[in-house]
Amino acid sequence: MTSVIDHLAELTGHRDREHADALLLDALWELLQPLSVALHRGLGEGGGAPWTTVLRRGAAGAPQRGRPAAPAPDWPLAGACAECLREQRIVEAESGGHGAPAVTLLPLQVGAQVLGVAELHTHAPLGAALQRTAQAIARLYGNFLALLDYGQRDALTGLFNRKTFDDSFMRVVLRGVGVPAEGEGEGEGELAAPQRCFLAALDLDHFKRVNDNFGHLIGDEVLMLTARVMRSVLQLDDGLFRFGGEEFVVLLDAPDEAAAHAQLERLRQAVARHDYPQVGRVTLSIGFTEVRAEDLPTTAMERADRALYRAKDSGRDCVVGPAALAAAGLMEVIAHESHVDFF
Ligand code: GH3
Ligand code: MG
Ligand code: MG
Repeated sequence: MTSVIDHLAELTGHRDREHADALLLDALWELLQPLSVALHRGLGEGGGAPWTTVLRRGAAGAPQRGRPAAPAPDWPLAGACAECLREQRIVEAESGGHGAPAVTLLPLQVGAQVLGVAELHTHAPLGAALQRTAQAIARLYGNFLALLDYGQRDALTGLFNRKTFDDSFMRVVLRGVGVPAEGEGEGEGELAAPQRCFLAALDLDHFKRVNDNFGHLIGDEVLMLTARVMRSVLQLDDGLFRFGGEEFVVLLDAPDEAAAHAQLERLRQAVARHDYPQVGRVTLSIGFTEVRAEDLPTTAMERADRALYRAKDSGRDCVVGPAALAAAGLMEVIAHESHVDFF
């Protein structure tokens, strides 16, 4: 019992959601003693597919705090996870036959808001009492994340707000840009390999016209739908921010600049092709930069903003990164200005 209370005290004692995820797994681990436990988050419509695995803990020891990685496209539990969220109840998934562990999927949500699914493997099915324990832990976790969301997420789009950006950014820098996070790449599981980090500034093109022609409510709907496209194309949750108005920021991992450019280009195209009700077509300009170890949030944002201005200048509906800036002879200005002391 003491250990239960200790876990819950720990869980609610932090204002950091990565920590809350790890403590949720710890609590499930200690209280239910599974063979393994993983936390999956849905990035698509209504919190469903595509799925990403944010944390996993197996018999090998401490949770792996790697960066999220997508399960294989043919992930056999995707259907059962969707059912678990749709029906808001524990689902006992098909296991691999005689002698294979029992698989329990536990929905994580608060109200109508979906937070993800915990996947538990145990020697035998959990049974009613342990299912109730699991549900109680999930409820506590859900209520706690809802409290965090209240201060950290933008109410319209559900993306993180500007206030949380500095913390997320500094975490990337402290993690050591391009250096694997603790536990990354070890043990079982398919968490992603170390990557470099890029910062992108995004701004909808001629958005004032959308408001002028269709009204503010339709404008709001465009913002909400654009956020949804961003989440599902980039398969990201914790690297997406609404900076206010029609401006968004993305922190994304990629092996190199060309790969980051390609991801952002896919996003640009997805928005440009999206059929917005009433409004029809909307486009987006994107500027990005690589995050450096010596960066402050302001210095990296300054470079991304420069690239964004260049994208607007070049006719909008395009992606501009360091390579394009260098080609335009604008790189030196930025290198020089990024050393200006902002404080
Ligand atoms: P550009 O291509 O140069 O970015 O042009 P723009 O019209 O998008 O840029 P501008 O900054 O002139 O206009 C941004 C508009 O965004 C102004 C304001 O009406 C609108 N806006 C800001 N916040 C919101 C919001 O929360 N909801 C809605 N519907 N509109 C917003
Ligand atoms: Mg703007
Ligand atoms: Mg704009």
